Amino acid sequence: MIYNCHIHTFKDADIPRGFLPLGLVRVLSTKPGFRVVSRILNNINPFSDNDAFDRYVKFVELGRLGSQEAIYKNCRKFYPKNSKFGILAMDMAYMGAGKVPRAYFDQLKELGELKLKYPETIPFVHIDPRRNGYMDILKKCVEDWGFRGVKVYPPLGYFPYDERMYSVYEYCQANHLPIITHCSPFNPVHYKGKKKELRKLLEQGRDRIDTRGMSRKEMCSKFTHPLNWEYVMEDFPALKICLGHFGSAHYWSEFLDNPDGPDNWFLIIKDMLERYPHLYSDISFTLNKKEYFPLLKVLLQDKLLRNKILFGSDYYMVETEATERRFSLDLRAYLGEDDFMTIAKKNPEQFFATRFND
Ligand SMILES: [Zn+2]
Repeated sequence: MIYNCHIHTFKDADIPRGFLPLGLVRVLSTKPGFRVVSRILNNINPFSDNDAFDRYVKFVELGRLGSQEAIYKNCRKFYPKNSKFGILAMDMAYMGAGKVPRAYFDQLKELGELKLKYPETIPFVHIDPRRNGYMDILKKCVEDWGFRGVKVYPPLGYFPYDERMYSVYEYCQANHLPIITHCSPFNPVHYKGKKKELRKLLEQGRDRIDTRGMSRKEMCSKFTHPLNWEYVMEDFPALKICLGHFGSAHYWSEFLDNPDGPDNWFLIIKDMLERYPHLYSDISFTLNKKEYFPLLKVLLQDKLLRNKILFGSDYYMVETEATERRFSLDLRAYLGEDDFMTIAKKNPEQFFATRFND
């Protein structure tokens, strides 16, 4: 039995209308629109390294499967029987990208039904503190629907140490519920509203941030910075937190080329993992590039670090389906059973253990 600690099953109806550029979400949501646009996009530049368009198409194709169950089953088939899956919900209503077609409550309820039917799933409720009644939602998810963790997504426009999140952390710490937070910079899922609004959100930060000349992506990375979690861990020393994506391929690659470069999130996270006993990091998305396997292998030889890294794939945010199977198989073969089972079984068992016995 292994754990994939980080996957997504939200549907196209959970994605705001303005999420993709050029009104693509709306066009792609119809069958003919999807067929035409995917053909055009696939033909725009088949040799381009810039695979953003291909990814959009794949992304929307999976999101359109109709139900979270269908999306989940499409992921599960690539893993050994009895595998367990951390499924992270997404609340994209406050990212300034327009209206989300279906209510967040319905996405969560559907995940709760999935949990009933597939007990091997471990749903995480995403908490955006701008949503009214988020504590009630959290408790309903955990106590009635079997959710076993909280997802935090700072680049949508809130800081991890936002005071409104403190009741969430208190509840999680008391119940040993783990937190998984997005922790890579410059990603396409970030606050898309007006820059003026974004500046206002950034003013909530503890440090003064000079945003002159910064792109929106760079600005949103200020919310996401791993060091923001130090404040939370000082106040909630027993809270289990996983920094998703281990700082991103961008910083892994930067580390390989320029190991002493400043403000490298890979290095910052590695250092934090050594200092905070309940802090973890997952390799989802980032390790989809095989060129990083050797560095991961070396990290896992470190006595301390090897207990802090979790296996995850970030299904279905990765480009193609084939990568899902290849990723887990190739990585397992490369690492060998001992190292692989450490990140795919031993560490997740610790991370996912809660006060609820189920
Ligand atoms: Zn993810």
